[in-house]
Amino acid sequence: MKLPFLVFLDRDGTLIREKNYLKDPDEVELLPGVAEGLKMLQDEGAVLVIVSNQSGVARGFFGVDAVEAVNRRTLQLLADQDVVITNVYYCPHHPDEQCLCRKPEPGMLIEAAEASGLDLHSAFMIGDKRADVGAGKNAGTRTILLLTGHGQAEAAAPDGPSADYVAENFSAAAAWILAQRNKQK
Ligand SMILES: [Zn+2]
Repeated sequence: MKLPFLVFLDRDGTLIREKNYLKDPDEVELLPGVAEGLKMLQDEGAVLVIVSNQSGVARGFFGVDAVEAVNRRTLQLLADQDVVITNVYYCPHHPDEQCLCRKPEPGMLIEAAEASGLDLHSAFMIGDKRADVGAGKNAGTRTILLLTGHGQAEAAAPDGPSADYVAENFSAAAAWILAQRNKQK
């Protein structure tokens, strides 16, 4: 019996190709290695949860219906490869609204942990932005900065939180998580 643990996943630039305020489900494209990496994590007990900033809603670029259509398409492409995403959270707010859900605030992660009954100490957060790393740190998870999407630029920026691990791609991120889990056994 594998012990369940949470893995929080950013969406754009992490699971799917970054397309700058993506709103068309037909443009959803899984990044290489993502489905395989998620499958490996899932087989080790990972409970997979997407946490996504979607300020395009507050900015008037698209509605929540577009966000949800893109989410559904992402989940479908993953389900086609036997990956189950347990829950999807997104923040529709503008940065100026100073809500508690927009990453790097930890609101979505805390809510997901409460909903799942799983703890944040054993959780991981994977994303391509420092806001993802920040959200993970603020929630008390271990953090991985991916060099896909905005990751190269984000890693080169002088300020901001530093991740526990910087991964070239999703496969490397998944492998690192599994190595951390094995260390604890
Ligand atoms: Zn929010």
